[in-house]
Amino acid sequence: MYANVLVEYNVKALDKTFTYKVADKIKNTLKVGMKVKVPFGHTYVNGFVIDMSNHFQGDISKLKEVSVIEDPHLVLNQELLELGVYLKEKTLCSLIGAYQTMLPSSLKIKNQKSKYDLETSYISLNEKADVNKYINENKKSVKQIAILKRLQLESKILKKEINSSSLQTLLARNIVKEEKEKQYRININKKIIDDNPLTKEQQEVFDRVKNSLNKEETFLLHGVTGSGKTEVYIHLIKEVIKNQKRALLLVPEITLTTQLVERFYERFGNKVALFHSALSEGEKYDEYQKILNDEVDVVVGTRSAIFTPINNLGIIIIDEEQSESYKQENMPRYYTLDMALFRSHYNKIPLVLGSATPSLETMARAKKGVYTILTLSKRVNKAILPKITLVDMQQEMKKRNPIFSELLINKITKCLAQNEQVIIFLNRRGHSTIITCQNCGYTYKCPHCDISLTYHKSTNNLRCHYCGYTIFKPTKCPECHEESLNYYGLGTEKLEQELLKKIPLAKVIRMDVDTTAKKGAHEKILKEFQDGKYDILLGTQMISKGLDFANVTLVGVINADLSLNMPDYKARERTFSLLTQTAGRSGRGEKAGEVIIQSFNVDNEIFKFVQENNYNAFYNYEMLNRHKLDYPPYYYLASLKVASKDYDLASSEAQKIYKFLTDNLEKTTMVLGPTTANQFRLNGIFRFQLIIKYKKDTKLDACLKQLDNIYIMNKKVNLEIDTSPLSI
Ligand code: ADP
Ligand code: ZN
Repeated sequence: MYANVLVEYNVKALDKTFTYKVADKIKNTLKVGMKVKVPFGHTYVNGFVIDMSNHFQGDISKLKEVSVIEDPHLVLNQELLELGVYLKEKTLCSLIGAYQTMLPSSLKIKNQKSKYDLETSYISLNEKADVNKYINENKKSVKQIAILKRLQLESKILKKEINSSSLQTLLARNIVKEEKEKQYRININKKIIDDNPLTKEQQEVFDRVKNSLNKEETFLLHGVTGSGKTEVYIHLIKEVIKNQKRALLLVPEITLTTQLVERFYERFGNKVALFHSALSEGEKYDEYQKILNDEVDVVVGTRSAIFTPINNLGIIIIDEEQSESYKQENMPRYYTLDMALFRSHYNKIPLVLGSATPSLETMARAKKGVYTILTLSKRVNKAILPKITLVDMQQEMKKRNPIFSELLINKITKCLAQNEQVIIFLNRRGHSTIITCQNCGYTYKCPHCDISLTYHKSTNNLRCHYCGYTIFKPTKCPECHEESLNYYGLGTEKLEQELLKKIPLAKVIRMDVDTTAKKGAHEKILKEFQDGKYDILLGTQMISKGLDFANVTLVGVINADLSLNMPDYKARERTFSLLTQTAGRSGRGEKAGEVIIQSFNVDNEIFKFVQENNYNAFYNYEMLNRHKLDYPPYYYLASLKVASKDYDLASSEAQKIYKFLTDNLEKTTMVLGPTTANQFRLNGIFRFQLIIKYKKDTKLDACLKQLDNIYIMNKKVNLEIDTSPLSI
């Protein structure tokens, strides 16, 4: 028997398997997908068994032997093995890199898994011992007797509660015994509540998907905010479980998982595993074990959960499918939807994409008939969509209200008077976002990244939001030495202060990257807001999606133009989606909701579509723009970034690549650039960008692979290839 083993060196040149003879002692236990230790050169390394066979063509005498199984579990099942190959093909990463990405750190090839196993020791009476006799004979050992009496009543006690020398004596004399139980870090003991009966509209959607549970079919569930999409997911998952299968639900952000996971615990009890990047390594390890051991029916998680080894998968659901968090921005740069389509195909099961604002690509595919469109047009429980008012901030500026309009302040005050809650959204953190000298015009920028530094008042420093470069708050301009520094631009930190100036008695809680750095901070903020400890939740993008608070009747959006002014073809789509989602947080309960959007460009069409809640009008309008400029969904994109510390080198290599691509790709394909990348200087490295636009190009894959192979060996120039860029 021979095994082909993929070893752990994550070097392109080594990205191939090596054949080993399988030692007799593990012949019957070794399986494809297991982690093994093999001799390699002069040392030993870990690797995965990729395949096994009875034949080997070549010189058998030269083969080394595999005799050590590192992990008796099947770390990679057949589906994951194949998914890894697909991930490699799709993103041009190495195969070992693909598997390393798919596994949690604790199971990665180098790690010892046992150190993550958590056990708890319990003490109980040894049934073979005559305890009463022992008590009679040892009347003076008061402490020992106390322990025994307690054990007679409670049968089993946590060892750490009673650990003492007396206990040690009892253990040594075999009067009591110790037992270890496996323990998970996340334990769920929520009371399970009944499902809501579906509304007529929900039922129709449910029935349609139910009819395809044993098929590969992709659905786009287009439902307005609060239309009960999540409730439909829950019913579908229950149906899948009835058929002895399991479900995977992906959500965009961790903040979103908080409320949703609680909802899932209430419906599925401890049959839910949670999987996202904010879990500790130990928690991830535990949740992974629950999945591997088939102890759960549902996995809820962020994008990396797409790689969890769920056996007998019956449905995949991607909530808020348009979210850009489904794209991984570092290697391997995968797009979760691609991976989900693979698993849906592999298992012959449905994939449901849910959203109030589907991405243009998804909607275009659905309109073409590639996906099946399902619609939820109404909010449940007769709740109506909130009324949206647009405020012209140019007019407000004239009235000296640069931050909060009169209308918004009045509405907030009214809301608080009625004991209702408010969400205020500003998509920028920090205090002031631009610091300039009034005297000489000097502006503080990051020396490594060339972008403006942001002032953070709570820590009294200026910070680069890209690389973390930090300096103390200066008092004088470094150029002209005048004390004339001015702080412009608005971040959430300053917004909070300004709000308290206007409404001093308001209880405000802020949620952004700075206030949620600590583990558990998200959950705490959301819980306290839910419990009514605060009137106003103020925050960044984090609070725009998914949150479901019945008592929120007002949402205010500050500086809604921020995302609109980004230099990216997706800026309008992103803004429409963000505003619609944010507005959707209002009026979800019995009370009607309102939304105030503050903008400096009220004439922009996007606001009209948001106000009318008219996704279709937005879609038609934006498709025209995309068509005019040959952007997706009319064309596919690939992006290449050429990076180097040496400006000239980066520039000349980018030119070479341009020539190579135009010479080798098909004539219908467009190659644009090289231009300076959006973040041109990042961490002291210069980055040039090339964009490829294509409809169908049979030569593209080979060309990109060839380039990748050349630059992987180049120490001075780095080439980042992204075959599914979400922004450029
Ligand atoms: P979405 O995911 O589309 O934003 P949700 O599933 O969160 O919508 O539903 C919005 C609110 O309506 C939630 O509080 C949910 O509990 C409630 N809800 C959804 N479906 C029903 C139903 N069939 N009966 C009663 N309440 C429902
Ligand atoms: Zn920087």
